[in-house]
Amino acid sequence: MRDAIYLDYNASTPIDGAVLDVMQPWLTSAFANPASHHLPGRMAHAAVDDARARLAELVGARPGEIVFTSGATEANNLALLGALSALPDNRRRIIAPLTEHKAVLEPLTWAQDHGYKIELLPVAPDGLLDLDQLAATLGDDIGLVTVMLANNESGVIQPLARINELAHQAGAITHTDATQAAGRLAIDLDALDVDMASFSGHKMYGPKGVGALYIRRGIRIEPLMHGGGHERGLRPGTLNVPAIVGMGAAAAIARTRLAADVQHFAELIDHLHDKLVIAGCAPIDIVSPSSGAAGPPRLANTRNWRFAGADADAVIANAPTLALSSGSACTSSVPGPSHVLRAMLADDEAASECVRISVGRPTTRSEIAEAAALLAAAVNRVRDLTHPDIPTDATAATTPAGALA
Ligand code: PMP
Repeated sequence: MRDAIYLDYNASTPIDGAVLDVMQPWLTSAFANPASHHLPGRMAHAAVDDARARLAELVGARPGEIVFTSGATEANNLALLGALSALPDNRRRIIAPLTEHKAVLEPLTWAQDHGYKIELLPVAPDGLLDLDQLAATLGDDIGLVTVMLANNESGVIQPLARINELAHQAGAITHTDATQAAGRLAIDLDALDVDMASFSGHKMYGPKGVGALYIRRGIRIEPLMHGGGHERGLRPGTLNVPAIVGMGAAAAIARTRLAADVQHFAELIDHLHDKLVIAGCAPIDIVSPSSGAAGPPRLANTRNWRFAGADADAVIANAPTLALSSGSACTSSVPGPSHVLRAMLADDEAASECVRISVGRPTTRSEIAEAAALLAAAVNRVRDLTHPDIPTDATAATTPAGALA
C-alpha cells in the first residue's frame, strides 16, 4: 500500500528492480570474500572490478581511479581529510561555498579545529558561486577547493570546469561532491578537470551504505582508517560486494537512461508547476524569481519553491500524505530554514517558506496531479491560518509567478 506520494528523491531513491536482481546472488550463494584467492573469491573480485568499470564509465573516469566507500559521507571525509596531510605546510587554507552539504562542511569544521583555515564563500541569490570572488580569494596559500557539482536542495549546477581551472591555476587541488549529479546529469570528470569526486549508491537507484570516491591518477591522499590494505590501501575493510555490484548495475542503467530520465523529470516538474498555477497557488522559483528568466543551470528533477506567506514546515505538516522536504534530510533535525536557503536568500522569512520537490523515475503524471492538489490545499490552509485577513485568492493574485515578495 502506498503511504504517501514520494517527491523527495534527492533524499533517497529506491533500488531499481534490475539492480536488486543483480545483487541477489551476492547476498546469498556468492558470499565469498573478494580478497580470497580461491575461485569464489576471485569471482567476487571480478564482480567488484566490473562494478568499478561501470561506475567509471558513467562519470568519465578510469576504473583504477574509483575507491568504493560506505557512501558519499565517507567519500567526502576521505577526500577532504585524506588530502590534508598531503597539503604542503604553506597551503593550509581550504575554500568551499556556504551551500555545501554537511558531509563536506563538518569534516572542514574538524579540519579548522586542527589548524587549517576554512574560507566559506557566499553564493548569489541564484545559488551560483561568484567566480570573481573565488578568484580574489584564491592565492598561493590555498591547498584545496571543494565545490558541490549539483546542489541537493536547489539543484543548482556550479560552473565546475571553470572553478577547477581557477583553483588549479592557483596551485590547489580540487574536490567535488557529485552525489546528486550522478545519473541526473552527464558527468565527464576529465572534462571537469577535478581531482576528486564523491558519489553515493542510494541517490542513483542503487543500495544505501555504498558510495565511491574518484581520485584522479597522480593525486595522493592518506587513508582515514588502517587495516587490511583493501582498495589500494585507501579504504580498508572487507568489501560490501552486493552493494558495490548494485552500485555498478545502477551506474550502467543510469548511463543508458539518462536522456530519457532527464526529459521525464522536466515534464513532471512543468506539470506540477502548471497544476499549482491552476490551483491558484503559483510557486515562486527562488533561483529564478523573474518570470521568463532561464535562471542558472539546474538538475531537471529538483525545484525549491517558495509559497509566500506559508511556512514550509507547516505546509509539510498539513500535507501528511506527501513526502516533501524543507531542506536536506541530513539536517532535518535542525529547526528553521536550512543553511543552504539562508545562504541564498538574505531574508530568513523567505527561506522558511521554501519547499524542496525532487521527482524521480517512478514519479507519474497522476501522482503529480494529486500532489499538486494536496500541496495547494496545504498552502492555502496555512495561509488562511497565518493571514486570516487576506483571502486565499488575493494571496495568489498578489503573488505573481516568479516574483520574490
Ligand atoms: N552529499 C550530498 C550532496 C548528499 O545529498 C548526501 C545525501 N543526503 C550526502 C553527501 C551523503 O551521502 P550518503 O548518504 O551516501 O552518506
